[in-house]
Amino acid sequence: MTPKEVIARAHEAGVAIVDLRFVDLLGTWQHFSIPVSELSEKLFLEGAGFDGSSIRGFQHIHESDMILIPDPSTAVVDPLLKVPTMSITCSVYDPVTGQPYSRDPRYVAQKAENYLRETGIATVSYWGPEAEFYIFNSIRFDQDSHYGFYFIDSEEGIWNSGNDGGVPNLGYRPRFKEGYFPVPPTDKLQDLRSEIVQNLIAAGIDVEVHHHEVGTAGQAEIDMAFKSLTRMADQLMMYKYVVKNTCYQKGYVATFMPKPIFGDNGSGMHVHQSLWKEDQNLFFSPEGYAGLSDLARWYIGGILLHSPSILAFAAPTTNSYRRLVPGFEAPVYLMYSKRNRSACVRIPMYSNNPKAKRIEYRAPDPSCNPYLAFAAMLMAGLDGIKNKIEPPAPMDQDLYELPEEAITKLPSAPSSLAESLSALENDHDYLLQGDVFTKDLIETWLSIKKKEVSEINRRPHPYEFFMYHDA
Ligand code: GLN
Ligand code: MG
Ligand code: MG
Ligand code: MG
Repeated sequence: MTPKEVIARAHEAGVAIVDLRFVDLLGTWQHFSIPVSELSEKLFLEGAGFDGSSIRGFQHIHESDMILIPDPSTAVVDPLLKVPTMSITCSVYDPVTGQPYSRDPRYVAQKAENYLRETGIATVSYWGPEAEFYIFNSIRFDQDSHYGFYFIDSEEGIWNSGNDGGVPNLGYRPRFKEGYFPVPPTDKLQDLRSEIVQNLIAAGIDVEVHHHEVGTAGQAEIDMAFKSLTRMADQLMMYKYVVKNTCYQKGYVATFMPKPIFGDNGSGMHVHQSLWKEDQNLFFSPEGYAGLSDLARWYIGGILLHSPSILAFAAPTTNSYRRLVPGFEAPVYLMYSKRNRSACVRIPMYSNNPKAKRIEYRAPDPSCNPYLAFAAMLMAGLDGIKNKIEPPAPMDQDLYELPEEAITKLPSAPSSLAESLSALENDHDYLLQGDVFTKDLIETWLSIKKKEVSEINRRPHPYEFFMYHDA
């Protein structure tokens, strides 16, 4: 849509309010609203000012004035708000230089796409994230408490606390690890997921499938058709917004935190990706292992080699590393495979169609900022292609058949956020190519994330009480 068409659409749909949205450094949508009378072609050229000093990861107080420039291609009537509202995703600009703001994650994503074209390797990259999440009746926590108690109440699972919602009905619960995927009434979230899907479609998103996931306490997955990098990152912001708000309006709470429940599956965000030259999929070759081209194999080589530092963006919370453990379909090994789901990169074999050939990177989770995470993956893959980085031989054997010593020798993903952050400190030249990531952005990211690590480390953990209260 052109700005003119957006304005016409707003009036035709009876829109009263225009909501301008942008993403902060950590990956949360922020917004402010204007009456529809303020929606003009001038707005798309000159933007709207706001104070960037209180936005996470943005400017300091003395240089706080910033501009939002709305991207007309993202305009859509919000499917969830009562007052008719048009949502438009914006890019952040620095009013002094008139240039895009270097810490705007959306700008990083756009630079990554430009860099891809400049290398001449491909014209476009396609992205298909599978963001999983849990739907609970409630999550309660005492934010200010020094004790850090939290309570989860879930409709379906063993986690039903049963002491604040009346007596729970314990029938038709999915058995442990069997959430994937019996029909209702065992699946109690069918209609809720369908309503989410209806709202996603109303928000202009192409949905492919929705289903219950393995996690018994109400884990869900909804998948979207693949899109180019920035478009998919934009959509993922809308996806999380629609999921959270649909659940919230029905009295539920959806969470994308990677490992809310000990002992059950975490929520990952496997990312399917491929490189294309016009309409030719560069990842396909009939001769290669699992139908992969040399270029795809080198891309995997780059992803695996740089994984520890990619994960500083793609699995960016301390909680992410509680998911990346054996036994829950989350990847652990920096290997690739067409079979093994413990490998970080899997090659889906559902289809022989060359157009469907892609890699699935399974280590990311939905707590990431998708603009930065996708950009980091693309830069690592391109580094692999440019330097013809060979990945270790594919790991197709059943891990249960391997002797213990062989397993411990396999290269593994980092086991903590602290490890990923130090990997990023030591390995980020590939991100700086083409000025896609700046040193300033990486340093800002490291300092915010190191603070998160130390804030968690300073607090007594509930399990420490179990272990040590009687010391
Ligand atoms: N929940 C699993 C993860 O953490 C994935 C399950 C699946 O989609 N097979 O990655
Ligand atoms: Mg899936
Ligand atoms: Mg899944
Ligand atoms: Mg998957």
